[in-house]
Amino acid sequence: MPARTYSVRTFGCQMNVHDSERLSGLLEAAGYEQAVDAADADIVVLNTCAVRENADNKLYGTLGHLKSWKDAKPGAQIAVGGCLAQKDRGDILKRAPWVDAVFGTHNIGALPVLLERARIAEEAQVEILESLDVFPSTLPSRRDSAYSAWVSISVGCNNTCTFCIVPSLRGREKDRRPGDILAEIKALVDDGVIEVTLLGQNVNAYGVEFGDRRAFADLLRACGDIEGLERVRFTSPHPRDFTSDVIEAMAQTPNVMPQLHMPLQSGSDRVLQAMRRSYRAERYLAIIDEVRDAIPNAAITTDIIIGFPGETHDDFDRTLDVVMRARFTSAYTFQYSPRPGTPAADFPDQISPEVMRERYDRLSALQEDISWSVNRELIGTQVEVMLAEGEGRKDAATDRISGRARDNRLVHVARPEAAARPGDMVTAVVTQAAPHHLVADTVASVRATRAGDAWETRQPAPTSGTGVLLGMPRVGV
Ligand code: SF4
Repeated sequence: MPARTYSVRTFGCQMNVHDSERLSGLLEAAGYEQAVDAADADIVVLNTCAVRENADNKLYGTLGHLKSWKDAKPGAQIAVGGCLAQKDRGDILKRAPWVDAVFGTHNIGALPVLLERARIAEEAQVEILESLDVFPSTLPSRRDSAYSAWVSISVGCNNTCTFCIVPSLRGREKDRRPGDILAEIKALVDDGVIEVTLLGQNVNAYGVEFGDRRAFADLLRACGDIEGLERVRFTSPHPRDFTSDVIEAMAQTPNVMPQLHMPLQSGSDRVLQAMRRSYRAERYLAIIDEVRDAIPNAAITTDIIIGFPGETHDDFDRTLDVVMRARFTSAYTFQYSPRPGTPAADFPDQISPEVMRERYDRLSALQEDISWSVNRELIGTQVEVMLAEGEGRKDAATDRISGRARDNRLVHVARPEAAARPGDMVTAVVTQAAPHHLVADTVASVRATRAGDAWETRQPAPTSGTGVLLGMPRVGV
C-alpha cells in the first residue's frame, strides 16, 4: 500500500518555519511521505501564527476551503497546531468540527499519535500542554535547505511586552543545553550544512534558565570552533540583554556573520515604557555604536511598530530621529494592530488608521532613502555571496542568480561561467545598488562547497543526461 502523504502549511515567524521542519520530520519518521503536489496530500497540517493581523480570519478561511477538499477525499485528515491552536484550543473544533487534530506549541511531538487516534476513534483529538517540561531536542526534522539550517536554542520568553502574545502562547523561556545544541550543529555540518541560524524568542537571554549570563557569548565562540561551519547567524536579540561580551564574541569569532537584527520598536522612551521594553532610545543607539566600533562593516536591521496606542506626533518624530541616527540597512515596519489577550489591546488612545498610514508612509520613505544610500556605499566593493535556491528574482534578462552576502544583504550576481550551485560561494564586485538588494556583475571567483555537493545529491536524477545547474552544465551530472 502506498504511504499516506502530507503537506504542512506554515504561517508566521522563523520559529514556526523551523517547527514545520520538525512536524515534517515526525510525520516521515511515522511512515508518511511529503506530497509532491500539496493538493494531493492525504493530510494537511496548518502550523499557525497568532501574531500577524487577521490571523484568526485567515485560519478559519483556510479551514473553510479545506472542508470541501476533505469531503471529497475519503480518509483525508486536517491538523491544526502552532500559536493560534494554543490560543483557541477547543474553540477550533467548535468553529471547524471537520478538523481531526489540534495540538499546542508544546505538543509538536504528539502529532502522529493524534492523527492515528483520530483515525481509529473517528473523533477529533485535542492536546494542549500549558508549558514545556524539557526542551524537545530529539525530535526529527526534515530540513527545507541542504546548505542552511535553523537551530533552536531556546523557546518562550520571560519578558512581558504589552503588545506581544508570545509569552502567553510559548510560555516562559526554556533553554536547551549547550551540548545538545553543539551536537546538533556538528551533525548538520556532517550532513553538508555550512550556515546555521540560532533561534530563540529572546536569543541573547539564552542561559537565564541555567543561570549562566555569558552562555550566549560562549555559544557563539563554541560555534567558531566547529570545522566546516562557515556562517553563523542568530535571531532575535533583545536590546535589554545585549551585553558587551556578546559583541566581543561576534567580533572575535570569524564565522559569526557581521549582521545584527535587533528590534527597536519605538524611538520614544515614553512609548518604550508603555510597551514595557526596558531599554531607552539612547541605550539602543549606544549598543549599535558599540557593535559598529567592534565590527565596522556590520549590517544592522530592525523592527519598528508604528502607531502604538498613545503614540503622539512627538513620539513618532523621536522614532524618525533614531532611524536617521541609526542608519539601519533595512527596517521591518509594522502598523500596530491590537492582539486580543495582550494588555495594549485595551489601552486608550488607539491610533486612527489614517494617522497610522501617514506615519507608516513617512517612515518607510525615510528608511528607503537610508537603505539605498548605505547600499550605494558598497558599489565597487567585493562581496562573498552564498547562492540560494528560490531567493530573489529569476533575472532571465540579465542572467543573474541570487544569494546572501556575509552581512545577509540580498545580492543578484551575474551568472558565473563556472558551475555554481545553491550553497556554493561566489565572490563578486558590487556594480549597482537598490534599497533592498545589490547587483554584483563582476564575478571574481566561484568556490564549490560541501553544501553545494549536499544540494546536488538531493536533486532528482536529470532526465536529459546533462543536469543543468545554476551555472554551466556540470561534468558527470
Ligand atoms: S521580548 Fe519579544 S517575544 Fe518576548 S514579550 Fe517582548 S516582543 Fe514578545
